[in-house]
Amino acid sequence: MKEFGYQRAGDVSGAVALLTADPDARFLGGGTNLVDLMKSGVERPGLLVDVRQLPLDEIESTPGGGLRIGATVTNSDLAVHPEVRRRYPVLTQAVLAGASGQLRNMATVGGNLLQRTRCGYFTDVTKPCNKREPGSGCPAIEGEHHNHAILGASDHCVATHPSDMGVALTALDAVVTYETADGPGELALADFYLPVGDTPHRETALPPGALITGVTVPPAPVAARSRYRKVRERASYAFAIGSVAAALDVSDGVVRDVRLAFGAVASRPWRARAAERALTGAPADAETFAAAADAELAAARPLRDNTYKVTLMRNLVVAVLTELAEEAAR
Ligand SMILES: Cc1cc2nc3c(=O)[nH]c(=O)nc-3n(C[C@H](O)[C@H](O)[C@H](O)COP(=O)(O)OP(=O)(O)OC[C@H]3O[C@@H](n4cnc5c(N)ncnc54)[C@H](O)[C@@H]3O)c2cc1C
Ligand code: SF4
Repeated sequence: MKEFGYQRAGDVSGAVALLTADPDARFLGGGTNLVDLMKSGVERPGLLVDVRQLPLDEIESTPGGGLRIGATVTNSDLAVHPEVRRRYPVLTQAVLAGASGQLRNMATVGGNLLQRTRCGYFTDVTKPCNKREPGSGCPAIEGEHHNHAILGASDHCVATHPSDMGVALTALDAVVTYETADGPGELALADFYLPVGDTPHRETALPPGALITGVTVPPAPVAARSRYRKVRERASYAFAIGSVAAALDVSDGVVRDVRLAFGAVASRPWRARAAERALTGAPADAETFAAAADAELAAARPLRDNTYKVTLMRNLVVAVLTELAEEAAR
């Protein structure tokens, strides 16, 4: 591992100043992804600026009935917060579906959103990878890609984004806030992750050196009945091969409001807008749910070994929406 410096940030502006002064510096949240990547040589920072002690560890209600979640709130604290559980059960379920108890105790909200893909070629520095080394190629397209993207990928990269939390936050229309040397800014999660195109190494729209300060989740009454369902290759402690975050409001057998996002199918959490359009105002039955899944998955371009994901996602959408509709009818 390359030698590196370590500095604990005392305040937000100091943390931002350190990153601005040194393009080789990186923020350190829980370190559960960054330090792994340093060990494998994918990341080679000269300085780690530890942000975990910054006063960004609160979860507060916003005036309109939403929540403001600080960037250094741990995944564990986020998942068990009573207001998160009450207002956004999908978020609690998504966070608890990720990693292990020990990892969730260390991992932070900011770090979770910026964690890198688990594509095996990306983490193996002996292999080419356009995301790690622009222009070097993408061996996953012809090689090992059973867990790679079926939506929104390109000829340059077919990796998926691994965050479960990000999928729930995408369904909830969350907004990421950040601080730079030029002042604060914000990005809706829908605009936070960049389309992969021919620049897979550019993953987010955050300005260089920006410190994520928090995430604001707007009020969403529909989320009171919501669910995160994750399919993985073993029962726990594994990344998704497909996941769905869903919230559903049904009255008189008709879908009044719905939120739907998919995980592990694209380079970013995937908001299923076509499915949402097909669902809104339609009868809340299995036929509608299947048609909505098909409307979204019509854009799927699976690879040789991940065609199974199209069927998996279709079944997942129908199963989760059926459960939520049955609950609403009780
Ligand atoms: C074995 C294992 C299994 C896992 N399983 C899952 C899973 O199933 N689902 C899932 O979603 N995740 C999973 N994870 C990922 C885990 O949740 C992430 O490693 C974690 O969320 C990253 O958070 P962190 O605070 O440790 O980030 P770090 O590792 O500290 O940082 C990650 C990146 O974010 C940057 N960063 C951190 N904080 C900020 C900030 N405030 N502003 C700007 N940049 C910042 C860092 O510079 C770095 O680039 C797993 C991890 C491991 C090791
Ligand atoms: S899929 Fe993306 S991350 Fe994986 S090898 Fe190809 S370019 Fe690299």
